[in-house]
Amino acid sequence: MTGRNIPSFIDGEFTVASLISEALEYRAAMTDHDVNQGLLKEIVTQFVETERKLAAAHAEVLALSRADGLTGIANRRCFDERLGLDFARALRTKSHLGLLLIDIDCFKLYNDNYGHSAGDDCLRLVAQVIKHNVRRLPDLAARYGGEEIVCLFPDTGIEGVASVGNAILEELRTKAVPHAHSVAAKIVTVSIGGVSIIPTDGMTPTDIVIAADKQLYAAKKNGRNRLVLGE
Ligand code: GH3
Ligand code: MG
Ligand code: MG
Repeated sequence: MTGRNIPSFIDGEFTVASLISEALEYRAAMTDHDVNQGLLKEIVTQFVETERKLAAAHAEVLALSRADGLTGIANRRCFDERLGLDFARALRTKSHLGLLLIDIDCFKLYNDNYGHSAGDDCLRLVAQVIKHNVRRLPDLAARYGGEEIVCLFPDTGIEGVASVGNAILEELRTKAVPHAHSVAAKIVTVSIGGVSIIPTDGMTPTDIVIAADKQLYAAKKNGRNRLVLGE
């Protein structure tokens, strides 16, 4: 091959060598481009995956910070937040906000006689019974403190509050967890105070809890294992 058809020299501008060199450079550039594209794709994939993991971890931490460690239902912090929001909304829209305050009867005697660990199991069971009856999406069941659980019902009048309260009492009775030392019954029972209010100016979110607590006190005084309602 003497390069009959290939120019060997054209005014010193193009040579086979320079053409080949240019082609190789172009190919090298193409390869770099491909490599860069591949790298970029990999980096974006990893970035998206890291972002996804971070978002999932953040959601988990957020959920944990709002859950009660023992019962798994919402905690007091979550309730306080939701109460503030739901109260403000009810005040603005002049709608009902319902609330149940639930307290296990003679729970100190349960712990004293069956042990603290059995007491924890009992608390978990009561929480599950309550949660099972608080099903609507905007409703919330949360551990208020100790052996007290609170339920919040946006847009719910006293009849709705009563129906959930009675369903909780009934389901817990059918569980028939023995409590030989209770003065209310020979099984684990709860007392419940229930209210539903349309907030007015000057009221605070705490007022609705105080109102429910008064009804709970009346339920305890009137023999426990019951629901007492107040408007
Ligand atoms: P009442 O019917 O008047 O409500 O009587 P009670 O004994 O339930 O009420 P009291 O306030 O005297 O006692 C509450 C008990 O609840 C005492 C406390 O040790 C127990 N308690 C609170 N939190 C927990 C918990 O997380 N686990 C267990 N096992 N017991 C708890
Ligand atoms: Mg109590
Ligand atoms: Mg109690």
